[in-house]
Amino acid sequence: MRFGALALVAAALVAADPYALERDRMVREQIEARGIRHPDVLRAMRTVQRHLFVPATLHSMAYDDHPVPIGYEATISQPYIVALMTELADPPRNGTVLEIGTGSGYQAAILAGLVRRVYSIEIVPQLANAARARLKELGYSNVTVRQGDGYKGWPEASPFDRIILTAAPPDVPQVLLEQLAAGGRLVAPVGATRLQELVVVEKDAGGKVRRRSIAPVAFVPMRPGK
Ligand code: SAH
Repeated sequence: MRFGALALVAAALVAADPYALERDRMVREQIEARGIRHPDVLRAMRTVQRHLFVPATLHSMAYDDHPVPIGYEATISQPYIVALMTELADPPRNGTVLEIGTGSGYQAAILAGLVRRVYSIEIVPQLANAARARLKELGYSNVTVRQGDGYKGWPEASPFDRIILTAAPPDVPQVLLEQLAAGGRLVAPVGATRLQELVVVEKDAGGKVRRRSIAPVAFVPMRPGK
């Protein structure tokens, strides 16, 4: 009887979230094993249902150790890279984050569980609309998606405590540095070639910026704005 009840509960859990076990394995084998320790980041990666952010035909690939195409030349980043960038950003709980390159909305959903408010800009109208609808349907009510050019940032909502770019500009855009709060941090792939450098830029209380390189990465290039 007790076993029967347990089996029922297990069946209900699997029905509600069929990929929970795969997601847990993804976090252990790809993320914790590579040194990500931030408890909030690990919790977010365990919670957000990544498969719901990729096309239905690719659901079974969602938890694999690589990026997944989402159309319009965009990709949802490899899980480890999302976790690494989020850990590097180390966003304050009561803070605001600006993301450039909404894509599927997955990185925005990860951030939504960690901060007060997420602003995300996507240049491709179809991706912006789909991500906005998806995030709303999944209940991420503290994310605002705007279709537009990330090179312009989001002046009305600035300054931001953190800025994350998920498409690569040739150089760190000055406009975005201006929209970063004192004490803030920007995380971005930077470079004009197929491989870029993942960089962290910190702005101190006096407004001075310091930049360090973390690792080589391969992101889609940021499209030049019009
Ligand atoms: N963060 C996304 C992955 C983004 S892929 C996710 O979690 O799914 C990079 C995205 O940046 C693509 O969707 C691309 O269309 C967008 N992009 C490229 N250039 C841009 C620009 N200038 N402004 C805003 N978004 C841009």
